[in-house]
Amino acid sequence: MSPYSSTLLMSFALLGSSAASTISPQAQRVCADIHSAAPSRLAYAPSSSKASLNSPYLAELYTNTTATYWDAANDADVPACAFFPSCSEDVSAAIIALGKEPGVPFALKSGGHNWNRGFSSTDGGVLISFRPNLQSTTLAPDGLTAKIGPGARWVEVMQELDKSNKCAVGGRSGNVGVGGYVVQGGISYLTSQHVGHRLASRIATAGADILGKGFSCDNVVEYELVTANGTIVDVNNHTHPDIFSALCGGGNAFGVVTTYTFQTHDIGDVWGGGRTYGPEQLDKLNAAIAEFISGNQDPSAAIILDYLFVALTQTSQITVSYFYNGPTPRSDVFANFLAIPYLGADGITTQRYPELLDTNVTSAIGLRTSNVINSLPNMPSEKMCLFLDWHWNNASNAPFVSSRQTNGLELFSMALQPIPVALQRASAAQGHSALSLDPDHGDKIWILYGAGWTKTAGDGVLPQQLKALADDALTYQKDTYKGVKPTNYVSGDLSVVPYNPLFMNDAQYTQDVLKSYGPATYDKLWFLHKLLDPGDFFTSRQNGFFFKTPPGGMTMPRHDRRAT
Ligand SMILES: Cc1cc2nc3c(=O)[nH]c(=O)nc-3n(C[C@H](O)[C@H](O)[C@H](O)COP(=O)(O)OP(=O)(O)OC[C@H]3O[C@@H](n4cnc5c(N)ncnc54)[C@H](O)[C@@H]3O)c2cc1C
Repeated sequence: MSPYSSTLLMSFALLGSSAASTISPQAQRVCADIHSAAPSRLAYAPSSSKASLNSPYLAELYTNTTATYWDAANDADVPACAFFPSCSEDVSAAIIALGKEPGVPFALKSGGHNWNRGFSSTDGGVLISFRPNLQSTTLAPDGLTAKIGPGARWVEVMQELDKSNKCAVGGRSGNVGVGGYVVQGGISYLTSQHVGHRLASRIATAGADILGKGFSCDNVVEYELVTANGTIVDVNNHTHPDIFSALCGGGNAFGVVTTYTFQTHDIGDVWGGGRTYGPEQLDKLNAAIAEFISGNQDPSAAIILDYLFVALTQTSQITVSYFYNGPTPRSDVFANFLAIPYLGADGITTQRYPELLDTNVTSAIGLRTSNVINSLPNMPSEKMCLFLDWHWNNASNAPFVSSRQTNGLELFSMALQPIPVALQRASAAQGHSALSLDPDHGDKIWILYGAGWTKTAGDGVLPQQLKALADDALTYQKDTYKGVKPTNYVSGDLSVVPYNPLFMNDAQYTQDVLKSYGPATYDKLWFLHKLLDPGDFFTSRQNGFFFKTPPGGMTMPRHDRRAT
């Protein structure tokens, strides 16, 4: 289900039994190798012959770390050992140890919020968890940047920075981790506002009409990276511009980030929170969001609209999460939305930024989940309303949505995320993101489809059915509105540009995210990966969004460690 709905605080019993996986002798050797270098930071699996070496603290840490995933199915994975590095040298030692034993898988766990099975969990391999030893946030003495550990959760980052009235461009839910979120792009409430470091100086000199901060990764000024051979490198736009660019949306194919240095921004009180609406308000809300995407001139404002179907009550509702970077929004900014009657209590209030992040969905809710992303054009309001109306009706009547008995489907949702040209302009002007957005292509809307279920029977069917639903909507939109220009469109092939790129943070493992960045970026990333990691260490030993074909289109063997 969509993680963005504030109605999802309801809790479900954590499901998924702990399978006693077999630990291979190779995995045991890697664990022992890492243990010899850092005995106080490695915990063996309870089923391991070496488990008696675990201190009570490490044994508990292993249990907690492997039981705290957003997607409940990941909790069933049993790593041969869990390693809790405290510095980049630790990570380097682990990568070198893994490099000596070709068959041993591994996973990197930051916040553990990626819903794709096995992306940050491993069954029988080595789990490298950045919590609790690499999760600090340190503001530089001049307050302009902050060093953030990959294991930090965004609410922790903001709590630390807020002490100095600062913030970073980070997640909209406080519990999401920094590590995976950033290398996969990162949409923030602040995404359409302010400017990153390079852009700021350009505006100062050129007076450019640039409004936004861009994606989270657009605001990173330096990464500390451990590469496939264990080398530790400081990557910034001057030392290694290609790697710097690849780490901004290219995912985990290029190395392990051990420190993110972020540009910080000033922040005071913010206004925001959620309101819930009945289905009878659908048309008005659809019109309001279409107009907000194309017409909003205030980059301090952000919004997410979430349609939600709750199987238990067989009811649907719409949640809108509002954000304004300031104590009160300009009266015109959300006027269309705020005039619409809502249900129950008003969740909107003026508060500190970390408080807002803390009240958004923050912890796992114990469901097995899948999510899929579509990139679609934001069309003129009338057409957009017709399309969204068709879309929700069609989706909520899909057969799988009523499969509570068979699959335990509890929640189905569609989250509408505005990607206006202001955001795209900000990201493009930073000039290094692998997402390669071009504001001339017009306004977009990224729709995140989510399903959450309780029964293992759902694992084999629901991810595919969710994907089929998203594909149907894409086809319908392309056929029905062929040639319709997105709002604020200037140029670009209308059969291609509105539908790309796909957003990695919201994608299902089946989706070819890197391909969606366009052939030039794809080829560049592919060659860079081959240069940095000629043995395909990162793309064959862990899961992630990798290269499915080499430049030129030859089919490559697909690496999937998990079936669903
Ligand atoms: C409740 C919720 C709210 C969300 N809100 C947002 C949002 O507002 N904006 C948004 O953009 N996305 C959002 N997402 C999506 C989220 O960003 C992705 O799921 C992301 O992968 C989670 O980051 P993580 O660090 O917690 O992931 P993890 O599950 O720990 O890791 C995800 C992936 O990142 C890789 N990775 C982790 N650490 C590192 C590292 N140090 N170096 C290299 N690779 C690494 C792992 O190999 C893995 O493949 C949300 C998800 C949930 C469940």
